[in-house]
Amino acid sequence: MSAALMELRSVTRSFPGDPAVHALRGVDLAVDEGDYVAIVGPSGSGKSTMLNILGLLDRPTTGEYLLEGSPTTDLDDVGRTAVRARVLGFVFQSFHLLPRRTALENVSLPLIYSGAPRAERESRARDALHRVGLGARVDFRPDILSGGERQRVAVARALVTRPRVVLADEPTGNLDGERTEEIMSLFEDLHGQGMTLVVITHDTGVAARAHRVVRITDGRLSEVS
Ligand code: ADP
Ligand code: MG
Repeated sequence: MSAALMELRSVTRSFPGDPAVHALRGVDLAVDEGDYVAIVGPSGSGKSTMLNILGLLDRPTTGEYLLEGSPTTDLDDVGRTAVRARVLGFVFQSFHLLPRRTALENVSLPLIYSGAPRAERESRARDALHRVGLGARVDFRPDILSGGERQRVAVARALVTRPRVVLADEPTGNLDGERTEEIMSLFEDLHGQGMTLVVITHDTGVAARAHRVVRITDGRLSEVS
């Protein structure tokens, strides 16, 4: 059997303080290539903490995180940044777009570090915007786009580096029902094209669209389906 794309082994994450917060209390999770996993659970249960570790934005306090079958514990910041740029795409609840840059510029940005020449960066950004249905909006700035369109720009930005997995933290948390549906059908398309997806959500409708649901309660995981 081949190694999981992402694997957490007995991962804990505690935040020092008085009292310390034990956000993750021993989590085991394996995500295979092509999985579509929803992570559900109450506010404060450790969902974002877990996603940040999967995204190499944070480190376990104890335990091990293997990405592409390799331990990540010994990677320094430069190594982590390089792996993150090659393997992972991120989508956040609040989009995190640069307001004064066009959609095309926002989506091109993650390619700055790739060494690709400007023309290639732009053409890849254009392709990514087409892929999310925004081919006609490339020169628009975020402030004149709708919330749903902004989130689709953010998805394009996550895709432009051709990651192996997209990690999304409450991606529809700021969207109404119709826009949520647009993002969900976009995720379904991506999954159909072989993308691995890990999506945190409060929305049971959103979770139901995933192929696997894991629940996190007080820092502990249980498989729902
Ligand atoms: P969720 O995403 O499920 O709402 P989080 O993973 O953000 O939950 O947080 C889990 C727990 O860890 C919460 O009690 C939160 O207050 C705490 N926490 C998260 N990040 C930090 C931090 N940087 N410092 C201290 N406590 C934190
Ligand atoms: Mg959270």
